[in-house]
Amino acid sequence: MARYTGPVCRLCRREQMKLFLKGEKCYTHCVLDKNPAPPGPPPKRRKKMTEYAMRLREKQKLRRIFGLTEGPFKRIYFKAAKTKENTGEQFLRLLEVRLDNTVRRLGFAASLKTARQWVSHGHVQVNGRTVYIPSFVLKPGDRVRLSPKLKDNMAVKVGLDGVSRRGTRPSFLEFEEATLTGKLLRWPDRSEISAPVQEHLIIEHYSK
Ligand code: SF4
Repeated sequence: MARYTGPVCRLCRREQMKLFLKGEKCYTHCVLDKNPAPPGPPPKRRKKMTEYAMRLREKQKLRRIFGLTEGPFKRIYFKAAKTKENTGEQFLRLLEVRLDNTVRRLGFAASLKTARQWVSHGHVQVNGRTVYIPSFVLKPGDRVRLSPKLKDNMAVKVGLDGVSRRGTRPSFLEFEEATLTGKLLRWPDRSEISAPVQEHLIIEHYSK
């Protein structure tokens, strides 16, 4: 399945909730505040959602939050399902500690798209080595460092300012502003993972 390149606000309208795909703009000029209707022509009559549709929407919501296509998303799910941990929690954990998402949560980028760009353009080091793979999964103790070349970059400043102002940097990440370095201290708990989804519906979706 090809990566979605259309208007991202449409995805929030589809899921009927803010998915925060555009960084700071989502807090100041959100399209959903002005136009909350789902995309497409209005339905002639409102249909009750089937159980299958509810599970599918929940899965799509999470997939869109992390900007993944179905293939990689499903692979992460089955990797989580093979562990002895709670499948739902482990699945969210594996998504949360991906390098692109960690770069975003540290505040080095306001959106996942920008975070991915920093990684794939070689601006991010993990334990002193440049990693170009946004899907790289961190382990507790790993240190993530943003290139000092980006210290004065406006997108980085906006990201850092936004995270500090809202106090949304999670406690499982340590952050040093002077060196633009972060450290994954431990695996995140469910309550610290930002995705507002009911993971049991996603498990049911893939178990059917
Ligand atoms: Fe979603 Fe952000 Fe667009 Fe609002 S501005 S609809 S949160 S992507």
